[in-house]
Order: sequence, then C-alpha cells, then structure tokens
Amino acid sequence: APYSNDLKQSIRTIPDYPKPGILFRDITTLLGDARAFRRAVDELVQPVAGTKIDKVAGIEARGFILGGAVAHQLSAGFVPIRKKGKLPHKTASIAYSLEYGVDEMEVHSDAIHAGERVIIIDDLIATGGTAEGAVKLLKSIGANVVAACFVIDLPDLGGAKKIEALGVPVRTLMTFD
Ligand code: 5GP
Repeated sequence: APYSNDLKQSIRTIPDYPKPGILFRDITTLLGDARAFRRAVDELVQPVAGTKIDKVAGIEARGFILGGAVAHQLSAGFVPIRKKGKLPHKTASIAYSLEYGVDEMEVHSDAIHAGERVIIIDDLIATGGTAEGAVKLLKSIGANVVAACFVIDLPDLGGAKKIEALGVPVRTLMTFD
C-alpha cells in the first residue's frame, strides 16, 4: 500500500505499558497527525470503496474514532460495540477471550437490519479474540460481515488468520513483529 511506510512512522511505541514486557502500539500520534489520520481512513476503506456498505461497527474505544471517520467516508451508519453494561437499549451480548480470562461485549439488538452489509473497524488485531467476538455478535443479530479492518496487525499472534477462517476478509495497514 502506497502510504504504509509514512503511516507506520506515525505510530508511537510505549515500552512496558500496560504491563512490564509489553510494547504498546500507540495510535494517538497517528490520530493527531492530520495527514496520517486521513491516509489511514482512506486506506482502511480502499478494498470496500465502491461496494455497498450499510453499517460500520466500531469496537470500543479506539475503534469508535476510526470507525466514525470510516462511516462518514462510506456514507454508512455507525454501530458501537461496547463493553458490557454501557448501552441503554435492548442488547445482544457475547463472551470473548482476552489474553487472561474472558469479558463480554454488547451491541443493540436492533442496530442492524437482517442481511445488512457491515464492516468491523478497530485499531489493532493481536490474538483476534476481540474481533472474533465482534464477528459472532454481529452475525447473531443478522449482519452480513463483509470485512474486518485494522490499522495494525501483530501477525505472530495469528488474529488475522483466525478471522479469515470465519470467512471474513481482513484488511490491515501495517504489521509489527
Ligand atoms: P486481541 O483481542 O486481538 O488479542 O487484542 C486486540 C484488542 O486489544 C484491540 O481492541 C486493541 O485495541 C487492543 N490492543 C492490544 N494490544 C494493543 C496495542 O499494543 N496497541 C493498541 N492500540 N491496542 C492494543
């Protein structure tokens, strides 16, 4: 992809966050750089540009920032996927695996009409546990999940392969070992 080298330089790496031994890939530096932010959004939508996308589903919290911009770019609606207990109306929920243990994510049950074409957006895919939960949750309320798009892939953790095995194409803009 033509912009990826530039984009990669806009990511800041924080050692030992949130725990010793973790290298945290910080996208706030990308978001704060006007050119990088626009390029990231343009590149995220590039594979689906020209196809009909009804809804963009963003995963709390950094997926909201990117997903809102992507939804606007595609003239699609935006659907928030949130941590348990945050959404006010009737929800569907799913348990998903984290590095240590499990958590639950939710979406409003009426957020998608049956068969609507939906893309998932988040900042980073690692093990794919979060994205897998989002795919299954959206399918449970009738979505046709046509792609999952992430700024950063950590390929050694196998997440993108896990999502493609569910039949959902994955788009990522850069990798870190
Ligand atoms: P997974 O479920 O694929 O193992 O982890 C991905 C989720 O954890 C995403 O929601 C992502 O925002 C968050 N995450 C894990 N590691 C990082 C990181 O180094 N940087 C950022 N920005 N997010 C991370």
